Amino acid sequence: MNYDVIVIGAGAAGLMAAATAGKRGLKVLLLEHNKSAGRKILISGGGRANFTNLSATPKDYLCSDRNFHRFALKEYREKEFISLVEKYKIKYHEKKLGQLFCDVSAKEILGMLLNECKIGKVDIVYGASNIKVSENFHLSFRGGEATAPKLVLASGGLSIPTIGATDFGQVLAKAYGHKIIPMRAALVGLKTEGMSSLSGISQVVEVKVGKFKVVEDMLITHKGLSGPAILKTSLYWQKGDLIKINWLPDTNLDELFVQSKKTFASLLKDKFPQRLLEFLVPEQKKVLNEVSKKEINKIKERLRSYEVTPSSTEGYRKAEVTAGGIDTKDVDQKTMESKLVPGLFFVGEVLDVTGQLGGYNFQWAWSSGVVAGRSV
Ligand SMILES: Cc1cc2nc3c(=O)[nH]c(=O)nc-3n(C[C@H](O)[C@H](O)[C@H](O)COP(=O)(O)OP(=O)(O)OC[C@H]3O[C@@H](n4cnc5c(N)ncnc54)[C@H](O)[C@@H]3O)c2cc1C
Repeated sequence: MNYDVIVIGAGAAGLMAAATAGKRGLKVLLLEHNKSAGRKILISGGGRANFTNLSATPKDYLCSDRNFHRFALKEYREKEFISLVEKYKIKYHEKKLGQLFCDVSAKEILGMLLNECKIGKVDIVYGASNIKVSENFHLSFRGGEATAPKLVLASGGLSIPTIGATDFGQVLAKAYGHKIIPMRAALVGLKTEGMSSLSGISQVVEVKVGKFKVVEDMLITHKGLSGPAILKTSLYWQKGDLIKINWLPDTNLDELFVQSKKTFASLLKDKFPQRLLEFLVPEQKKVLNEVSKKEINKIKERLRSYEVTPSSTEGYRKAEVTAGGIDTKDVDQKTMESKLVPGLFFVGEVLDVTGQLGGYNFQWAWSSGVVAGRSV
């Protein structure tokens, strides 16, 4: 069957691109190898989808070309997606730091996108596995064949393979001559050794890796470190990198550790759970006045700049996103079209554009999806 556009992948970006193109009157086919659409949307934000952020700016993203994503984010802003959500009377709230979540369920966002596809008369084929693309975008897949002059790759990244994540789009783009920026798991926990006895403890800390730093909650798990501070850090962490933890970002230790007859334990008792205090300050029972300046400085340094070299991330099985992907240098930022293969478009996470934790990745899916949907 002939279509104007074929979109591969009925996730966040693919649904948005298909609906946008369909509503322009184009005949659109959306192919999804799962038995249903948007499985990642359904599990996002703990089932409530952090569907955007009140301020999504280019600096909230990692991309080899720092300017690539600027146009799409301006062309379809967070406020436009919020208007759509409001049009569907989906109730939402700001949790913190501009992060918008559904009050009830991520199902509502998926339902809204599917309805937009319905309005655009998009044909959706589920279970469309084993997709083969030949010349002039003639596609064969389990259960059918189709041809279109425009093909949109929206097959996402590699995170959570159990719900159907594949590198289909990146492999196909490479076959067409596109460069792939090495992919890695991001927005994910980091594995570390020697802290499992502290498992379950959560603490607001400052974490630094390279030039990046963040003050947020960090959770110690039996495998290593997690929580928002670490997930955010993982976007910038590469194997071999050392991370530095300031356990008391809001405390001036020079003022706290002044001449005193108190023990470290009593000076720090309100700052840490007991298990963490014993781990970080084994000298806790010593009285400050009886300890040398050198030893006090060592303790201060440990609390301000605790060094950990994680062995790896927790991998794609746990990662919220895949950093890296199709290099944007050969993609037109105003249309999402390939500069190498006319008619081929890329949207969402398949590209080397990765947002920070906080609704930015969905906003990229919506923005890039709309730009491609308007351009095909
Ligand atoms: C647990 C979890 C929680 C998250 N929470 C949030 C959040 O709250 N806020 C936020 O902004 N981001 C969140 N993310 C990230 C966000 O879900 C993704 O960045 C976003 O879904 C990317 O959209 P996409 O359309 O590019 O890819 P996807 O949504 O992954 O869609 C890709 C689609 O392509 C299909 N596909 C893949 N390979 C093939 C193939 N070979 N043939 C046919 N179809 C194929 C897949 O089945 C899928 O339906 C979360 C991710 C995870 C894993």
